[in-house]
Amino acid sequence: MTDTRRVLVTGASVAGPAAAFWLARVGYDVTVVERAPALRPGGQNIDVRASGREVLRLMGLEDAVRARNTGEIGTRFLAEDGSVVSEFAVQDGEGRDGPTAELEILRGALSQILVEACPEDVPYVFGQHVVSVQEHEDHVEVELSDGSREAYDLVVVAEGVGSHTRALVLGDEPREKPLGMYTAYGTIDRTPDDDDFWSWLIVPGARQVGLRPDDEGTTRAMLSFLADSPVLEGLDDSEVLAALRERFAGLGWQVPRILDGLDASDDLYVDYLRQVVCPTWHRGRVVLLGDAAWCVTPIGGGGTSLAITGAYVLAAFLSQGTDDGSTDHVEAFARYEEWMRPLVEKAQDLPPGVPRLAAPSTRVGVQALKWGTRIAALPVVQSIASRLTSGPEATRELPELRRAASD
Ligand SMILES: Cc1cc2nc3c(=O)[nH]c(=O)nc-3n(C[C@H](O)[C@H](O)[C@H](O)COP(=O)(O)OP(=O)(O)OC[C@H]3O[C@@H](n4cnc5c(N)ncnc54)[C@H](O)[C@@H]3O)c2cc1C
Repeated sequence: MTDTRRVLVTGASVAGPAAAFWLARVGYDVTVVERAPALRPGGQNIDVRASGREVLRLMGLEDAVRARNTGEIGTRFLAEDGSVVSEFAVQDGEGRDGPTAELEILRGALSQILVEACPEDVPYVFGQHVVSVQEHEDHVEVELSDGSREAYDLVVVAEGVGSHTRALVLGDEPREKPLGMYTAYGTIDRTPDDDDFWSWLIVPGARQVGLRPDDEGTTRAMLSFLADSPVLEGLDDSEVLAALRERFAGLGWQVPRILDGLDASDDLYVDYLRQVVCPTWHRGRVVLLGDAAWCVTPIGGGGTSLAITGAYVLAAFLSQGTDDGSTDHVEAFARYEEWMRPLVEKAQDLPPGVPRLAAPSTRVGVQALKWGTRIAALPVVQSIASRLTSGPEATRELPELRRAASD
């Protein structure tokens, strides 16, 4: 290692800015590069739970995130006519969250809070991406899309599920495991009929429909459907919207309004849900973080919490160094991976039948799902489930982080 430890973080959504915050805190000279031309404001409701929440607290950001709470007061499963099948209220404190967590925030708002929390001397370079990564004995040379080349001690890849730098580093063997489900998100106008529940419509035809409140005076809409192959790949927005109209034709409730709203929405985000499964999360001086390393998808849940936790854990192990005062990144990366893997594997280990059971094809499947949610909504079951789903990470002790001497 050189004296000035320089690190490049690629990706400025959740994992990247969280890593920049913590790496700066432990003394690294950090630069963040983001492919998009500016901070991406879009994105739907995401939640922060368990150890992710603990890390936010350590960052001093829990109140800032709470102040941007979407205002969601619980989750309601609805029948096709809009009548309520079952209801889950937000659980009280103590980290015992149900489907709606205590800390619900829009992805773009969280991203902005994390970026603003970074020290001012952490530059964010927008509109650039990594073109090549060359490992040398004592540094790694990175070429960006503008042709510039820089030497860094370490590179943290936080580029999300479709990361290109991951392939440059680990090879282009497929790392993405599709779950066979598309999800389309977008922001639509709020109407007086919208309440503050996450409304989840249970319908046949392997589809899901959702509406969620936000803190910006609009409503966040979601349409999901099962698909054995990435049928929307390569389509432009108008073709995607036409395909959604076809898939969701004939459904009542708010569906026609959602389809019209998505037509007018300027932040349509369509995702063919894929887990990322990598045999290792680091090679040489480059390490993967967040969805780029382990995307769990919204079905696995906790992707944002894992990204925030992972950022802290990585910085903590890098900060611990060795007995002679130097930092052994190989050892630190290995310990980071060892700490995080059980959490990731737990989130990726989906119960049998998921996601198919949650998007039933037949009327019988619809009835079974309705009964399932009714049973799950019974207070006694909710109480047990929320204790189980709060997970071991809620009580697992985070590794010690040694702050930089100058801090
Ligand atoms: C625009 C957007 C909207 C989203 N909406 C939702 C949502 O509604 N619900 C949900 O559950 N999850 C959503 N997600 C995913 C969610 O943010 C992540 O699952 C989770 O927060 C982990 O974040 P991450 O930082 O690891 O990855 P991501 O949030 O995917 O961020 C990766 C970042 O890296 C950037 N990037 C990609 N390639 C490169 C490159 N080569 N060089 C530099 N930068 C690069 C991307 O532009 C992005 O800003 C969204 C992500 C994005 C980017």
